[in-house]
Amino acid sequence: MKIAEFRSHAHELVDWMADYLEHIEQRPVKPAVAPGDILGKLPSLPPVDPEDFHRIFGDFTEIILPGMTHWQHPSFFAYFPANSSPPSILAEMLTATMGAQCMSWATSPAATELEERVMEWLRGMIGLPDTFTGVIEDTASTATLCALLSARERASAYRINADGFPAGGRFTVYCSTEAHSSIEKGVKIAGLGKSSLRTIPVDATYAMNVDALERAIAADLKEGCTPLCVVAAIGTTGSTAIDPLRPIAEICRKHNLWLHVDAAYAGTALLLPEMRWMIDGIELVDSFVFNPHKWMFTNFDCSAYFVADQEALVKTFEILPEYLKTAEGTRVRNYRDWGIQLGRRFRALKLWFVIRTYGVSGLQEMVRTHIELARSFAENVRETADFEILAPVPLATVCFRYHPRGVGDESRLNSLNSALMDRLNAGGRLYLTHTKLGGRVALRLVVGQTQVAQRHVAEAWSLITSTARDL
Ligand SMILES: *Cc1c(COP(=O)(O)O)cnc(C)c1O
Repeated sequence: MKIAEFRSHAHELVDWMADYLEHIEQRPVKPAVAPGDILGKLPSLPPVDPEDFHRIFGDFTEIILPGMTHWQHPSFFAYFPANSSPPSILAEMLTATMGAQCMSWATSPAATELEERVMEWLRGMIGLPDTFTGVIEDTASTATLCALLSARERASAYRINADGFPAGGRFTVYCSTEAHSSIEKGVKIAGLGKSSLRTIPVDATYAMNVDALERAIAADLKEGCTPLCVVAAIGTTGSTAIDPLRPIAEICRKHNLWLHVDAAYAGTALLLPEMRWMIDGIELVDSFVFNPHKWMFTNFDCSAYFVADQEALVKTFEILPEYLKTAEGTRVRNYRDWGIQLGRRFRALKLWFVIRTYGVSGLQEMVRTHIELARSFAENVRETADFEILAPVPLATVCFRYHPRGVGDESRLNSLNSALMDRLNAGGRLYLTHTKLGGRVALRLVVGQTQVAQRHVAEAWSLITSTARDL
């Protein structure tokens, strides 16, 4: 493609992008496609001869777009959001254009130094102590794996990196039964073994039971295990439960365990000073992750990982083959040594654009609005006789169910709510997902879209109630 053609196609696409965002509500949130539908429309062999851009783009609109779930739709209430915003998209256009690979300072000095500065901004914006150092990882799963590996290395005096696991002995890791699956995945990848992961029971609010944690650690010590790490959830994925950080941190200090905080979704709410109660005790924590790519208007992927002990992180991952040696040496940050991958995308640019475009106050206002909208939805649920709330609503996620009078059987209620969700999602006017809390199917409504407004939440509520009563 010649640059002149690129220029004209790019202009067309920018218009298409603006139209897409402006009229997104006219599309079904979730497509009506069956597995294999799209695959069947794609030729099994690549083209041998060059194809015209308009043909390619035509197929994008005809084949791909109708098979997409529209995550930026204001009636997307499923999972957790992966919200984006115009400034973030603009930055990604620049990032893609420069196509820089930001593995070391020398390969992209400005990208490295911007990342350093933006992570300092972010640290202050969410109220972390300024003793923490930040780095951008692709996802929270990766950040949590980095935490487990650093914990493993620090506890073994970096011997496992050097020689592998010694015979005998066992490190144990702790999280609540409601913690994210990425912890189990990380424990497996880190070579600790799934059977070393202790899932600690939760209390009535689905937060970790601290006494049970203390008992589990004591039992493992008695068995000759070495308790290694606790992963506390600030905002579980199921119901956004908040594990009590300070008491957990005190136990970790007492027994010399690494404490990692998984705040993948909820971390964005820390922009609001009135939400910082969630991280009381943060000064005792070893590492912390949250995803600006979930709720902070920064398109996927962008995960902010903060550590108290920068040296433990870098010592775990650093490598220096001859072909990567540069004149600056250790006077600069080489982010390839701050995580798993060598090559890195330039992710700091979109964060910089987003933070500057909205300002801290603008971001706070959007997040505060989402929390208020979710709380008013929860109020509606509470005030309606044939619906009920199934978990506390500290953030912008509401777990609820339809519970018509006279239906007491739990399995009947579960199938009723699953049917309600399927009917709602098939309609294409909204999208929500479910979880199970104490064996009960809970519908989850998460308010977090960049363009979501009061009317979308109100429409969702009226659609949910009318669909339920029609079942
Ligand atoms: C979403 C989520 C994750 C995983 O996030 P990725 O960035 O997709 O790896 C981890 N923990 C919690 C609590 C989450 O909600």
